[in-house]
Amino acid sequence: MRTDLFIDGGWVATANTFPVTNPATEEIVHHIPAGSAADADAAVRPARAAFDTGPWPRMSGAERAVYLRAMARGIRDRLPELARLEVIDNGKPLPEAEWDLTDAAGCFDFYADLAEELDGEVEEIALPDARFTAKAVREPLGVAVGIVPWNYPLLMALWKVAPALAAGCAMVLKPSEWTSLTALELGAIAEAAGLPRGVLNVVSGLGAEVGQALVEHPMVDKIAFTGSVPTGSRLMAAAARDVKKVSLELGGKSPFVVFADSDVEKAVEWIMFGIFWNQGQVCSATSRVLVEASLYPRLLDRLVEEAGRITIGDGLAEGTLLGPLVSRGQFEKVLGFIDRAREARVTVACGGRAEGFDKGYYVAPTILADTPLDSEAWTEEIFGPVVCVRPFETEEEAIRLANELRFGLAAAVMSTDDDRAERVAKAFRAGIVWINCSQPTFTEAPWGGYKQSGVGRELGRWGLANYLETKPITRFVSDEPWGWYLK
Ligand code: NAD
Repeated sequence: MRTDLFIDGGWVATANTFPVTNPATEEIVHHIPAGSAADADAAVRPARAAFDTGPWPRMSGAERAVYLRAMARGIRDRLPELARLEVIDNGKPLPEAEWDLTDAAGCFDFYADLAEELDGEVEEIALPDARFTAKAVREPLGVAVGIVPWNYPLLMALWKVAPALAAGCAMVLKPSEWTSLTALELGAIAEAAGLPRGVLNVVSGLGAEVGQALVEHPMVDKIAFTGSVPTGSRLMAAAARDVKKVSLELGGKSPFVVFADSDVEKAVEWIMFGIFWNQGQVCSATSRVLVEASLYPRLLDRLVEEAGRITIGDGLAEGTLLGPLVSRGQFEKVLGFIDRAREARVTVACGGRAEGFDKGYYVAPTILADTPLDSEAWTEEIFGPVVCVRPFETEEEAIRLANELRFGLAAAVMSTDDDRAERVAKAFRAGIVWINCSQPTFTEAPWGGYKQSGVGRELGRWGLANYLETKPITRFVSDEPWGWYLK
């Protein structure tokens, strides 16, 4: 495990460190570097130099792709070890961590392909004036800062690092203070792949210190952020001073509309996957479930039954499907929502603090039935294994309730009537929509939020566009004089 920051191709010690606690055992398992504002500056300067005078943005996409693929292999070669690090850092079950890291490696491969496609990509522009020709070229936009949360530690980082590097940008990555272990290992993977110095720098530390210093740094061109709405809003304001480019992937409170013609067992399975996977610490979690009234009682019964069967435990233990929450703070925050729901007489059909654990931040799968529309449980992002369920009468009502919050990240609909499912999918004011499922995510498809859930799109070719500028080059090809001043 790393104890230093990865800056300018080497390892740099910090003045301070802070402890890493395993959320399953509450034991301190490591100490990671606590970067300062001075460390942020020390990381941005080599990134600036790598971009302004280094080989990276001047290489062909095909040349950059070789490094990206080497880094994909670097992740795969160390996958079992990296997955265990994510479990002791974040708490998630080991098979989920393995899945995340497989996706992270795939992300490097995917953007390596797109880097190759950038070569020779010139778009001729048809002009209405024969005296001119024009073409549009795309170029890397400069030094990017990637700031990521703790729920998918390396995967969220890769959604930024892979397209930024593919585009030819240099990046400073700031992982969450709760889960920096694998992001620091990414520095070692970049080093082993021979990535030119300064192209990728990894600086761990507190958001308000090193994160804020990165966002405010005048040598930075772009901020790519994933995290909560309040932090995203603050970063956008800070970035405005220098008119930095900003892309934001923020929180959600996503709806899942289930019509009565759905198969109950399939509905139960996808509702559970939509909210209990990764302990519900998923930005796109479908945490508000609207069920057509005639199906509601039966579905609720089956949901409570199956939620009670989920195996809770240490993410490293065989068979665990729900691990601890990431931190004591998150544990207390989620239990606070459940306690206040109880006090407000919301029906807690099952869940709350998980029983049988002396240590660890375990919350049982929690179902709040008939959740009132004006309760905080219905309107605020809880970011834990807590689902709000309520009945609806008509399609119009379901769409209205689905769309009424300030968030617009994701939405799901289940129905055996394809026309209805398509109609509702189109009516959702959300950036990511699922039909007859919830959560499956592919690197090839765009990802991002409507309304307060974000700005811009990650993943797919949209993710690459985040790190590119578009430049038209217009040529005067006529032999005739222009004839404006000189007649
Ligand atoms: P957070 O906003 O508290 O922190 C996110 C990151 O921002 C961390 O690295 C943190 O250190 C940093 N940060 C905090 N204050 C900062 C500041 N002033 N300047 C610069 N950086 C700062 O979020 P979190 O608790 O880590 O993550 C959970 C949130 O992330 C949830 O709201 C979730 O919905 C959201 N999320 C969104 C997506 C998406 O794709 N839309 C994906 C995952 C998580």
